[in-house]
Amino acid sequence: MGNSDTEPATGRHDPDCVFCRIIAGEIPSERVHEDDQLIAFKDLHPQAPVHVLVVPREHRRDVTELAQQPDLLARIATVAGEVAATHADGEFRLIFNTGASAGQSVFHVHAHVLAGGKLAEGAL
Ligand code: AMP
Ligand code: ZN
Repeated sequence: MGNSDTEPATGRHDPDCVFCRIIAGEIPSERVHEDDQLIAFKDLHPQAPVHVLVVPREHRRDVTELAQQPDLLARIATVAGEVAATHADGEFRLIFNTGASAGQSVFHVHAHVLAGGKLAEGAL
């Protein structure tokens, strides 16, 4: 586990990372929020009426790596709440899949914000 030679140093833009490419504008996305630290965009395969990904601009592998920057981690919770308030009733589920066996498929940390109605138990 951990970084291998094929993974970018923490914080670097990774040209092979789909979310780094979205952040760079190389892949289109439907953005609902952006600031100097974070962007948020609609998930391509929504699992709820509102399904938005909140993503730090700098490449970090997962939420445990992001925890080295508590302020940035806290910002994700704040932006998630703003997205849920703007696009739904303000109530939401916040999920960080961490590791392949837990469902992480993109290894650039992202929070799933699910909102907009009664959510299924155990979604994602
Ligand atoms: P995870 O499986 O937790 O790593 O979540 C990755 C999420 O990224 C999945 O829900 C995908 O649907 C979503 N996703 C992958 N590629 C894109 C893309 N180009 N635009 C928007 N969402 C994407
Ligand atoms: Zn990345």
